[in-house]
Amino acid sequence: MRDETKCLHSGYAPKNTEPRVVPIVQSTTYVYDSAEDIGAVFDDPTIGLVYSRFANPTVMAVEEKIAALEGGAGAMCTSSGQAATLLAILNLCEAGDSFISASKIYGGTVNLFSHTLRKMGIECIYVDGDAEEEEILAAFKPNTKAVFGETLANPALTVLDIAKMARVAHSKNVPLIADNTFPTPILCKPIEHGADIVIHSTSKYMDGHALQVGGVIVDSGNFDWRAGDFPGLTQPDETYHGITYTEAYGKLAYIIKVRMQLMRDFGVYPSAHSAFLLNLGLETLPLRMERYCQNALRAAQLLEASDKVASVSYPGLPNDRYYSLAQKYLKGASGVVTAVLKGGREGAVRFMDALKLASTQIHVADIRTCILNPATTTHRQLSDEQLAAAGIEPGMVRFSVGLEHIDDILEDIEQALR
Ligand SMILES: *Cc1c(COP(=O)(O)O)cnc(C)c1O
Repeated sequence: MRDETKCLHSGYAPKNTEPRVVPIVQSTTYVYDSAEDIGAVFDDPTIGLVYSRFANPTVMAVEEKIAALEGGAGAMCTSSGQAATLLAILNLCEAGDSFISASKIYGGTVNLFSHTLRKMGIECIYVDGDAEEEEILAAFKPNTKAVFGETLANPALTVLDIAKMARVAHSKNVPLIADNTFPTPILCKPIEHGADIVIHSTSKYMDGHALQVGGVIVDSGNFDWRAGDFPGLTQPDETYHGITYTEAYGKLAYIIKVRMQLMRDFGVYPSAHSAFLLNLGLETLPLRMERYCQNALRAAQLLEASDKVASVSYPGLPNDRYYSLAQKYLKGASGVVTAVLKGGREGAVRFMDALKLASTQIHVADIRTCILNPATTTHRQLSDEQLAAAGIEPGMVRFSVGLEHIDDILEDIEQALR
């Protein structure tokens, strides 16, 4: 199946007389015929449903669909993108370990990596994602367990050289974790370029309608954990009678461990109703992504031509710094455009306040056009040095171009610039 078909059919195939649409299984628990049956699922939770803190049929239908779209062996949804990032790292790193991350990433992820994980004894080593392989290799320590980066960074709009990062990671026997939120699997397939784990904030384009916060972790199933130093995957788990994930589950070791162990313990699983809404968004994702790319390119061209604008970033523009990487890895540059207004922070705020159609909101990838100034909102907690490292100038606005008629979007930008 192609992506358009997967979006409609993967994850749920009704049988004779069953509902056409994936049902909302709004139940915390599941019944068993005998004590023996229920005992068996406690020994191995992959053979049946136990409890909706870590598995639910509606959510699992969506997990299967997203795994199919990414070309992964398995997936697990989470209650937010932040939860997906947290669990993706904790599934590999313990206190005393480190991991490497490209420095141009989402502000919430910077907080998690630089502060909260550090308090848990896990060190994040930042590197410039554009650096040469030798420089990134030099950042590794003996305890480094993963490499992390965003395929199209929010809001810096840098494009990750996925194949380069995967080569570096694999030469040190650690996996590459790629946050593919902005392109979605419709525009970018990180696993095809060597990524081992893919994560998303589904709150963005996948949901698409600004309805519910969510995340997902996809496991390619390709990484050989036994070749690296991953005792959590290759040694017995005492909390499951000494099961060894790599032996028991092979290619699914990572994604089953994160569900059986971390989701069991943290309980950041979405509700069936949220998954149902996410599924609706996924059904039209290919159509929406195509139009987002078209509209955003037009908006980027308009901003680029304005004398009120100091610079524009959109990897779909031929003179963008990341155009060639975008050509290599992305089928389209997605719907977010950033522009640095002349007049800095103040100019950005004046421009935003003058927009009539575009709403000011702390969200991105909504179906409606929206805008924000990262320096005074999402990245408010970062120091000026951290802002620069994340690729953010004070006068920058992040335009999330929606699916309104393109002429309405362009007219709104024109009048606000005036
Ligand atoms: C929004 C976002 C996140 C965090 O996701 P939430 O669903 O808001 O928790 C992580 N990574 C990227 C790239 C994002 O844009």
